[in-house]
Amino acid sequence: MTLRLTQEQIERYSRQIMIPDLGGKGQIRLRQGSVLVVGAGGLGSPATFYLVAAGIGHLGIVDSDRVELSNLQRQILHATPDLGREKVESAKEKLRRLNPEVEISTYAVRLDDKNARQILSGYDFIIDGSDNFETKFLVNDVAVNLGKAFSHAGIVRFQGQTMTVLPGQSACYRCVFREPPPPGEILNCQQAGVLGALAGTIASIQATEAIKFLIGMDEELLTDRLLIYDAKTIKFRTVEVRRNPQCVACGEASDPGVSSTGKLNEGKGNL
Ligand code: ZN
Repeated sequence: MTLRLTQEQIERYSRQIMIPDLGGKGQIRLRQGSVLVVGAGGLGSPATFYLVAAGIGHLGIVDSDRVELSNLQRQILHATPDLGREKVESAKEKLRRLNPEVEISTYAVRLDDKNARQILSGYDFIIDGSDNFETKFLVNDVAVNLGKAFSHAGIVRFQGQTMTVLPGQSACYRCVFREPPPPGEILNCQQAGVLGALAGTIASIQATEAIKFLIGMDEELLTDRLLIYDAKTIKFRTVEVRRNPQCVACGEASDPGVSSTGKLNEGKGNL
């Protein structure tokens, strides 16, 4: 890959190249960087739009679903004519139109303990835009095991949360939430509803974190803090979180042979 920006790239990205913390050097780093977005839905839509617009080198999108009418209220990658199409195909078409320079890989599969390791390992940063606890814990455990930085997020009704994890350095999702809640205890957005614009706010933060990570702003990431956003009152609150030495994903006892991630390696799953 060329280490020089073309005249066209300088023009396309001029408004962010002007930012002193980013500059031409940051733009080249973005071109060399890759991000995997899990879910081409409410969170994945704005996140992928901003990442592709910003000129990352390679985007991966995982989603096994097809576009449904009830998705369109928030999943802004997809439009009415896309009903019934694979979400990854619909996503790729829109993103290509926005910025044909970005390499886009699609995975029309549900992320599971058999494919997660292989898919995640090809990327520098992971954005979890999934809508269920099983996938959130899976992304955490596999990313931590691979040492891949990632952004967690969850949204429901008027409330969203997000945090960034640098494995081995900052608290992971499992340090904060030890295990998935019993089925049915916490409503997901399919059961409880979610505001589309809230997804945009949280996903924009996730894309911002990915961009900051790729350009080397590790010190400024949303690590060891869980950001909670209440869209009803427009209040942001951060809760400090700490690494748990007993965490089964990233703690002292997380030897690959005994940890949850170890079990994942054996293909048994841990959830
Ligand atoms: Zn942990």
